[in-house]
Amino acid sequence: AELTLAIVKPDGISGNHTNSIKNIILQSGFTIHTQATLHLHQHTVTAFYAEHSTKTFFPSLVKYMTSGPVLIMVLEKVNAIADWRTLIGPTDARKAKITHPDSIRAMCGEDLERNCVHGSDSHESAAREISFFFPDSLSV
Ligand code: ATP
Repeated sequence: AELTLAIVKPDGISGNHTNSIKNIILQSGFTIHTQATLHLHQHTVTAFYAEHSTKTFFPSLVKYMTSGPVLIMVLEKVNAIADWRTLIGPTDARKAKITHPDSIRAMCGEDLERNCVHGSDSHESAAREISFFFPDSLSV
C-alpha cells in the first residue's frame, strides 16, 4: 500500500483535536505506520518548508510551526496520498468551512496559515517528507 506524511500542527494539538483526527484516519481505512510527537526547531521547519522560504508568509509560518508540539504520522493505505489530501480539505481553512464542511481543516483549522494539518501533495513530496522525519524508514 502507499505511504503519506501527515502532521497535526500546533493548533491541532493545542485545540485537542488529535483524538478526533486519529479516529477519522482509522475510520477512513488508513493504518498509522509510524508516529512521533516533536517540538520542531526553527531550522527543521525551514528545511521542511524550503520551497516556501522566499514567501512573505514564511517567517510567520516558522513561528506558527514552532509554537508547540506537532504529531507526525506516516499513514498507510491504497491511494493514501490523494485520499489524505481529500480528507484534510483546502489549504485555507476559512474557505474549507464553506466549500468542504466535512473536511478536517473545516473542523479544526482557522485560516490560510493555521490550518491544523499537513499532507504530502505528491509521490515525490511523500518520499521526501517521510525520509526527512524518519530517515531509517525502509519502505520508501
Ligand atoms: P501543507 O503543505 O501544510 O499540507 P498545503 O500544501 O495545503 O499545506 P502549501 O501551499 O504547501 O499548502 O503551504 C504550506 C503551509 O504554509 C500551509 O499549510 C499553511 O500553513 C501555510 N501557508 C500557505 N500559504 C500561506 C499564506 N498565503 N499565508 C500564510 N500561510 C500560508
